[in-house]
Amino acid sequence: MSVRGSDGRFAPSPTGPLHLGNLRTALLAWLFARSAGARFLMRVEDLDRSRVRSGVEEAQLSDLRTIGLDWDGPILRQSERMELYEEATARLDRNELLYPCYCTRAEIRTAASAPHGISASDRYPGTCRELSTA
Ligand SMILES: [Zn+2]
Repeated sequence: MSVRGSDGRFAPSPTGPLHLGNLRTALLAWLFARSAGARFLMRVEDLDRSRVRSGVEEAQLSDLRTIGLDWDGPILRQSERMELYEEATARLDRNELLYPCYCTRAEIRTAASAPHGISASDRYPGTCRELSTA
């Protein structure tokens, strides 16, 4: 299954119970998808195995169903899609679109949230894109 540009999605991390902010994000994404006639996809971000807690995913999905949200297609889990990510990385590498990034997570977050910067909080700022090999 691919994700089309107009699809809505929610991507919970099964590391702890959903809080109100998570529920608001899920509800807004669901409302957007349903009002646009788009699919609403559920993609569990479970790559950080050291933080994933047993039973949390089930509890999160139960909470979402309880507030009336439903989703289209199977639940996607990042841990089950590594082959897709490796293929995509290899494709980027073949096209020479990969480069090393020396930024810390904090630096990337700061750049992405700067007032003059990029509005999407998770967007990578591209700080190291133009560095020379030196
Ligand atoms: Zn960087």
